[in-house]
Amino acid sequence: MKPEDLVRPEVLALKAYHVPEAQGMVKLDAMENPYPLPDALRRELAEHLSRVDLNRYPDPTGEKLRALIARRMKVPAGMSVILGNGSDELLQIVAMALARPGASMMYPTPTFVMYSMYAAFTGMKAIAMPLREDFSFDAKAFVARVKKERPALVFIAYPNNPTGTLYPEADVVEVIRACEGVVVIDEAYHAFAGKTFMDRLGEFPNLVVMRTVSKLGLAGIRLGYLAASTAWAEQFNKVRSPYNVNVLTQATAEFMLERLEVLEEQASRIRQEREALGKNLAALKGVTVFPSAANFFLVRVPDAARVDASLRKQGVLVKNLHPGIAQSLRVTVGTPDENRILITALREALQ
Ligand code: PMP
Repeated sequence: MKPEDLVRPEVLALKAYHVPEAQGMVKLDAMENPYPLPDALRRELAEHLSRVDLNRYPDPTGEKLRALIARRMKVPAGMSVILGNGSDELLQIVAMALARPGASMMYPTPTFVMYSMYAAFTGMKAIAMPLREDFSFDAKAFVARVKKERPALVFIAYPNNPTGTLYPEADVVEVIRACEGVVVIDEAYHAFAGKTFMDRLGEFPNLVVMRTVSKLGLAGIRLGYLAASTAWAEQFNKVRSPYNVNVLTQATAEFMLERLEVLEEQASRIRQEREALGKNLAALKGVTVFPSAANFFLVRVPDAARVDASLRKQGVLVKNLHPGIAQSLRVTVGTPDENRILITALREALQ
């Protein structure tokens, strides 16, 4: 018996999510916050975690943490919060719940690769609608396709990964209004965009807002959350694995949400650095930088494979977007030192 004889063809056709070795590199490939927690806070957190009972299962729905998220993240009253092991898991939960036979999922493309992966995992038909050449959103074309295809699920990354684009709010509203299915606004980069649909949840019965703490400085704990009306949350919650968010993650998130200003201050430093890095990238000969509302830039270069290889040799790790987007790299905004190293290495690579 070979795996090829038994595994579903759509799974056989997939490639596993690839994560490159990053030991000793300037790591600008995964949109992480480059700042560690201050030493005193780390010690206080360690003390807090020492009181967690590792022999017990976690609170099954993370009730205390959900209430804290609702308060600190300004989830409107009457809406429900569900936690996920990263927002990756929540994307999968929503897809699983909506994957009736023949149901489709739609999203602008290029976008976060996991949307299409979850379509494949759940047997949904994936409809990828191209952005314009400059990665702006053609709302008219998207809405027309929504009306024709009537997808059960639409994913909109707001701002978008890997382009950094923040679509106009009015365009997104048009999509939500036109769609008879669920529209998930994926606000993974919310901390850097200053725009959200959270406060508009009550306006649209088919709207779900999803976020993660990953880009905010807590990628290691794997925690995502979604906010939706209780009617939707009740259904999504049935598909969630029991105890999906572990005790250490719950305890760490509770601790950090009470000290959210530390992470918000880091995000504000990253936003400032984004300005400087954007200018320095644009000043490089042969480089085109696309405007970004996130903590990364998509940059077009003459020969992405060669530039990527040269950067790696110089100890800098970025993401080559080939084959999804030709001759383009995605670079995360790092610390001022890391950004300087990136610019110097890019200058060398572009010689
Ligand atoms: N949504 C978007 C748009 C992303 O870019 C990412 C991570 N790259 C995620 C969701 C997943 O984030 P996480 O699973 O770390 O919460």
